[in-house]
Amino acid sequence: MSRRSLLGASAAGLVGLASLRALGQPVASNPQAAVTPAATARAKNLIWLIADGMSVGSMSVMEDYLRVNSATAPSAWRDLLNRRGTRHGIMGTHSFDSPVTDSAAASSAFSTGMKHRNGSLCVGPDGEEFRPFFQMARANKRRVGAVTTTTITHATPAGFYATIPARRQERDIARQLVDARLDVALGGGSQFFSPELLALAEREGIRVVRTATELQRVDRQSSAPVIGLFNESHLSYAMERRPGEPSLPAMAVWAMERLSQPRDGTDGFVLQIEAGRIDHSEHNNDAGALVQECLEFDATLAAVMRWADARNDTLVVVCSDHATANPGTVVYGSKGHEALRSLKKFMHSFEWVLEPVGREADIAKRVALLASRVKEATGVELDTDAIARLRDAYGGSWVHPSSARRNIVTLLGDIMVEHTGVGFNSGDHTSETVPIIASGPGAESLPGAIDNTDLHNWVKVQTGLTSNA
Ligand SMILES: [Zn+2]
Repeated sequence: MSRRSLLGASAAGLVGLASLRALGQPVASNPQAAVTPAATARAKNLIWLIADGMSVGSMSVMEDYLRVNSATAPSAWRDLLNRRGTRHGIMGTHSFDSPVTDSAAASSAFSTGMKHRNGSLCVGPDGEEFRPFFQMARANKRRVGAVTTTTITHATPAGFYATIPARRQERDIARQLVDARLDVALGGGSQFFSPELLALAEREGIRVVRTATELQRVDRQSSAPVIGLFNESHLSYAMERRPGEPSLPAMAVWAMERLSQPRDGTDGFVLQIEAGRIDHSEHNNDAGALVQECLEFDATLAAVMRWADARNDTLVVVCSDHATANPGTVVYGSKGHEALRSLKKFMHSFEWVLEPVGREADIAKRVALLASRVKEATGVELDTDAIARLRDAYGGSWVHPSSARRNIVTLLGDIMVEHTGVGFNSGDHTSETVPIIASGPGAESLPGAIDNTDLHNWVKVQTGLTSNA
């Protein structure tokens, strides 16, 4: 499909698109997904939760886990879906150059309403630079914030404040974050902030905090921008949280309270909250970490809804940016129940299991070390067949058919299916449509099927944000 025909397929009449189309910028959205303005009052605040890599399968696994492990209340996810006034649908996620998107192109689509190449952040296929969502929201007098469990310079948050051709340039993205002066920016990634950059940030009145305690000590009335860097890399998985690292619900609550403080010249806020490591656990085919990351996301959703329920001016949008590895509970009968019950005893992620293993040069010793780490992390004793498969994989005589670069970890995931009850279709993203939920003013007009670029336009209409500001 040529650029021109992609342009021709854009949704006519969407806010701000006509002029962008005239500039020859890429749009590939569904013309049927008409966006109708809300009849009710517009939302002053927008809270946009993105569960990275989450599919309906991810949440189904979490719900299977909850049911088998005697949950007494429904998940926040199910509760939200069942509410009067909540709307939900499905969303297409393809990028400019691929049926399967990456997080950078997906975040840029939410951010700008345009399709982007995988890997790029708000830079179009011909190098055109787009204004990211937070800068547009700022021009509309909104306070802005991002909260994530990944590095704060990772694709999903960065797509809302950075304009850069390659997502891997996280040092440059860190500089752009400081320049963007978000009111709140909380996550990991301190390795990408040089001492010089942090000194510059502090000279410019930005508070930089490193622990949950330091964050709680920040004066909530002050209007200084805050950058929280709680890990040199991503925040730890919820199951392995280190002292000093805040949870995602804690960061979300802090951000909502801070952003709702009135400030001169602003009215309302936009907050992106990313549960970023659901995706990582799925890339690793790691069911134990997946369930805990989904529960962390669910607890965050509960906290956000408690906050939003107490007011009538906040639109909450909950979605995923793409599916990853399409997890599902795949073991029948009592064995399936047993496996889901045993997930409760998993203490560590596959990342933790594999961390020291690659340093062991001798293959037999390496496999033995891996088996003992699996036992320590999960309580599972690998059988001789599993040991033989791992030995073959390390010896190079076996490669995972869909995802060679992740062969050991996805093989481990495959070996563990009978112990976890959870299977995965690969170690990579898929093009599956993802769930989208809206609650609050304007939610009733959410289309049942929407494209990620059209979601940008829909959200702007409901919140009164305009690209002309
Ligand atoms: Zn993603």
